[in-house]
Amino acid sequence: ITQLYGPLNLFGTSYRSLQKNFIDMEKMLDLFQEPVEIQDLPLAKPLTMTGGEVVFENVSFGYNPQNPNLKAVSFKIPHGKKLALVGPSGGGKSTILRLLFRFYDPTQGRILIDGQDIRMVTQSSLRRKIGIVPQDTALFNESIGYNIGYGKIGQDQAQVFDPSRSTMQRRRIQSGESSGGESSRRVLLSGKPTKPTGRGRKSKNASPQSSLETACITEGDEDADVEGVGGEYEDDEDWEDDGRIQAAAEAAQIHEIISRFPEAYATRVGERGMRLSGGEKQRVAIARTILKNPPILLLDEATSALDTQTERDIQNSIESISKDRTTLMIAHRLSTIVDADEILVIQNGEIAEQGSHEELMQAGGIYAAMWMQQLREDRTPAGSSHSSQKD
Ligand code: ATP
Repeated sequence: ITQLYGPLNLFGTSYRSLQKNFIDMEKMLDLFQEPVEIQDLPLAKPLTMTGGEVVFENVSFGYNPQNPNLKAVSFKIPHGKKLALVGPSGGGKSTILRLLFRFYDPTQGRILIDGQDIRMVTQSSLRRKIGIVPQDTALFNESIGYNIGYGKIGQDQAQVFDPSRSTMQRRRIQSGESSGGESSRRVLLSGKPTKPTGRGRKSKNASPQSSLETACITEGDEDADVEGVGGEYEDDEDWEDDGRIQAAAEAAQIHEIISRFPEAYATRVGERGMRLSGGEKQRVAIARTILKNPPILLLDEATSALDTQTERDIQNSIESISKDRTTLMIAHRLSTIVDADEILVIQNGEIAEQGSHEELMQAGGIYAAMWMQQLREDRTPAGSSHSSQKD
């Protein structure tokens, strides 16, 4: 046995080192999946908001330049109006939202906010003005209060928005690579978000360091908010102490649920704590966005089935946050966008139909067929009453 031990041990060591190499290789491949970073132009200026009008002007884009995923898409969302994107899976809806958040630049055409080409402005100023409510919200193993408050920064909503970034970013957070993020996490909330603790103030120096976080956090804060439009907190030091987290949770219709948790806002969520349902997580994202208070809102409606009450709560809270904000929303349940100012049917990277719900129903085209299909599904007892258009 002792004679065997040496070779076996050697084999074990080699196996472990082989395994480690595989893991390292996996990490490396992951790194390569990180999309090319969009850079600020040397003379990039902060975005100046005068209202919140969004214009896509003949925008074409392909993840692979040989294969366009969006082809000459043009539309305009006037300040405070709501535009809904619908259409089959893979049509290009999420790509439109990603381009507006400037994860990628169009290969042709321009995207303008209040008349400024978003390629010409700083990414930090752009991202400060845009709130995101993704389908699937990343939560930290932290208190629910922290998870709501973190939305002021908007970083994790952004990662969820781009799957290739999200894997990498989450791994960094879990492995502690994003050390700045970890520290800011601790200082942002110390468990009781609504009560002053006298410690753990967020300082400008505690900003997370990773590229995406930095991009979304806006180190400069150079640009002044337009009154009644931007309205972010000017001083990061006092925002956690004055009940705004609870107020945001109330507006997002999640306060009552949180109050029932064992330690209310101090209850830990995530892998090591309380699990939240998809609908609850989306309301956390809505509460975060309420705190961020952006003039432009990107919403990606959850496709997962929700019970009627949850769906109603979410719809109410979405209505309340999208009021007076320029809103671009990907809708999977057509009933939620009947009141949208305009609906675009996106198919094969193009606008196949455009108009209000009534106009599109009258036209009797793709949208009307999708509507009828959802009605049929809703009436089928076996089918879910919340089925997605993707199915
Ligand atoms: P869904 O309703 O399923 O979310 P969608 O309408 O939002 O679909 P997009 O996600 O915008 O569609 O995708 C448009 C096209 O771009 C699809 O063909 C998709 O496969 C492709 N695509 C999306 N993301 C990437 C990426 N990171 N790299 C390469 N291709 C991508």
